[in-house]
Amino acid sequence: MSEPLILVTNDDGVHAEGLRLLAESVAGLGRVIVCAPEGERSGTSHSITLHAHLRATPVREGWWSVSGTPVDCVYLAALHLCDRVPDLFLSGINAGYNLGTDVFYSGTVAAAAEGYIRGGSAVAVSVSRDAAPASIVPAVRLLSTRLLASGERHLLNVNGPATPIADAPLEVTRLGKRPYLDRVEQRTDLQGRPYFWIGGPPADTAADEGDDTWAVTHGRVSVTPLELDITAPDLEPARALLRDPAQEASG
Ligand code: MN
Repeated sequence: MSEPLILVTNDDGVHAEGLRLLAESVAGLGRVIVCAPEGERSGTSHSITLHAHLRATPVREGWWSVSGTPVDCVYLAALHLCDRVPDLFLSGINAGYNLGTDVFYSGTVAAAAEGYIRGGSAVAVSVSRDAAPASIVPAVRLLSTRLLASGERHLLNVNGPATPIADAPLEVTRLGKRPYLDRVEQRTDLQGRPYFWIGGPPADTAADEGDDTWAVTHGRVSVTPLELDITAPDLEPARALLRDPAQEASG
């Protein structure tokens, strides 16, 4: 195999410490290209810029700052800035967990998913806000090494705990529950018009063993394999909904 190509991105912006650490975590494993948003793009999910132009500014050799979203960065890198589709896409290291239903909002996870769609393996990497981002680096290096050696493609969502248990193995998990203390706060601007802030902090909840939320609260590094097909496993309830009750009764 020729030298692996590794694309590194994030949603916290090109100047985030986690991005630099993530790029350094795979030093020596292949050719590393970094292509990340010029500023904060957390919570932008899988948004793509189709109605405005994008600019890619070289920061230094192999580093690009892009005026778009995390998914724009991966799309642009995979199809244009790189000479071929990267073998491995890494996104992060996000400052804060992406657990459970966070994956629907997360730009970090979406960038990894876009890399997977483009044809590589992909890993979204996040850590607790109370953790040093560097604490997840050994896990990232281990996973990247295994992924590059494997002939298979994977899409993984990795979360590092606030207080890692020493020598705790990486744990394969399912997406768990991720409730928030949801809030809408109305304020008034200087013209007397209302405006809003939405969002709130995570709420405590009982986590089930085997869930990503359980793993991180018990000091483990959580590794959740994701698929892009979110079709319900059981189609029957939807079929039942479409059946005509009158016909059911007469039939
Ligand atoms: Mn973020």
